[in-house]
Amino acid sequence: MKKVALVFVLAVLLPSLILAWLAVRSLRDQHLVFERQQSLLYQGVTDSLARQVETRLGEQQHEFVLQVEQMLSQRSAAEIAPAFDERLRADWPAAKVGFVVTTDGEILSPSAAGRPEARRFRGDNDKFLAGSESAEIYLNYKQAQSVSATATRPADSVSDRSKSLSEVQRSYQNSPYTKRSQMTPATRNVAPKNEWTANNQALDAPVVPQAQFSKLAPAEGEFQRLISSANEGALARFVDDKLSVLLWYRAPRDPRYVFGAQLDLTRLKDELRDILPGVEPALREDICIAIIDDRARPVALSHPDFKADWKHPFVATEIGEILPHWEIAAYLLNPEKIDQAAGTAKLVLGLFIGVLVLAISVGSWLVASDVSRQLTLARQKTDFVSNVSHELKTPLTSIRMFSELLAEDRVAEPEKQRSYLNIITAETARLTRLINNVLDFARMDRGEKKYTMADCDLAVIARETAETFRPHLESAAFKFEVLLPESSVPVRADRDAISQVIVNLLSNAEKYSNGVKEIRLEVAELPPATVELRVMDRGPGVARGCEEKIFEQFYRADDSLNSGVQGSGLGLTLARQIARAHGGEVVYEPREDGGSCFTLRLPVTHQTT
Ligand code: ADP
Repeated sequence: MKKVALVFVLAVLLPSLILAWLAVRSLRDQHLVFERQQSLLYQGVTDSLARQVETRLGEQQHEFVLQVEQMLSQRSAAEIAPAFDERLRADWPAAKVGFVVTTDGEILSPSAAGRPEARRFRGDNDKFLAGSESAEIYLNYKQAQSVSATATRPADSVSDRSKSLSEVQRSYQNSPYTKRSQMTPATRNVAPKNEWTANNQALDAPVVPQAQFSKLAPAEGEFQRLISSANEGALARFVDDKLSVLLWYRAPRDPRYVFGAQLDLTRLKDELRDILPGVEPALREDICIAIIDDRARPVALSHPDFKADWKHPFVATEIGEILPHWEIAAYLLNPEKIDQAAGTAKLVLGLFIGVLVLAISVGSWLVASDVSRQLTLARQKTDFVSNVSHELKTPLTSIRMFSELLAEDRVAEPEKQRSYLNIITAETARLTRLINNVLDFARMDRGEKKYTMADCDLAVIARETAETFRPHLESAAFKFEVLLPESSVPVRADRDAISQVIVNLLSNAEKYSNGVKEIRLEVAELPPATVELRVMDRGPGVARGCEEKIFEQFYRADDSLNSGVQGSGLGLTLARQIARAHGGEVVYEPREDGGSCFTLRLPVTHQTT
């Protein structure tokens, strides 16, 4: 038993409990898992919107080129140049200022004495465009690549943050983001909450220090060098902390003239707003998408009334070099939703684990109790063999001894001879009873026991069985009372089987009398349709807690060797099985004023009169 229990604990119970413990531990990470799933989902949305913005900007570049080409198809570059600003703005409202600069650094448009915007533009950009001053700019990668061969790093104006174009290119190419796609918008590793960064560490995600959140690197150079031999491009620069986006183009037929436009950012913002309704409606219920400008202010919102700490989005994607530090950002409309979802998942998984652990525990308990029952049964069977051998041997010894005495004529007195013969008869009856019990049990065990049911009178069966047993009891000095009803008690029963039950109960009353030699048998009807046959003694009764066990096969409260009372542990088992086969029952209850009371209950076939 110990070995079985050990194997069971090591092979089943322990691994199951360890698995349950690991599962419970993993519940703690549910919040992180949910947050991660959500961030991956929303990151896809912001990435795709950032790509759309880039496409729009590409379209603007294309439109600008078309405008210039159209003008050049009518007149030469030199003719167009002086009034380019006015023409361009008239034909293409996306431009705030149109400019023309020659490769020698001469600015032909707009006029420095023109409208206020033009004057401001000239003031801000003259030196940069003329090539007399380098400026910090952000370049579209394609342009950066095309000019990198010629760009140099100005030795005297390198700020800590700026790099030469070749450095920009190198760092860009070496950066992990370049590997995704050279034009793919950079995904910012945002840290919406402090714990998110900490959690990322827990999930082995790469942690990017705050300072490195932006993937854009500024470059520094003069306009002529930056555009180099490229035909068209876009660059962004901050003048007095204000972003200005410049597009330029030069026609291959006259590359000395570089036509350019400063984009009207107010107009651009209005246009970009159009991309927000494209967000999937299902996602709009959970997140607010915002286009955030370089000052961390929302330019456009998918949910106009939404307010948040704009600097801390849930996820964000940088738009790119043309709009540096602009982002498509996603904010959770209901941040508690993740907590709630994680809480629900935790609860469900927790319950699931609980049920599993319970199932394992109950299963273990059932297996353990079954094993223990099997072991008890095996032990009882062994006891049974020794009990039955003992039971067979004892009557056989007396039968042999007394029959030898009689056979050898060694007993002269007729009194003694009769007494010896009575003993031989009684022992033979006991032997027969035992053998009948064993055989019947074997038949019942195999389901082969057949009953010959007939209408009979229980009072008659009880009387006849009692009278057959009486001499045996009286010879052993028992006071045997039999109380039977005067009227008949009709039952449908197998006579011999019922008689066997009564004999077993009487025999037990005799065996377990413990010196108080008083047995009573009574039959009483319980209206409307039951009859009870009770066998009562004044013995010690059945120990508390064993009232049902005594009906189990092979069960004996004390074995023969210990108690000196012989038995097989089958008498009551058979009695109960026979009673049940008749639609009745055998039960034990303690007798009032001490002793046992075994009751055989049977259905009466019809109302007696
Ligand atoms: P056996 O008598 O052969 O042991 P039984 O099935 O007839 O087997 O009885 C089972 C157990 O029930 C007995 O071993 C005994 O402990 C208990 N028992 C049966 N009858 C009585 C009784 N009248 N008084 C006390 N204990 C009894």
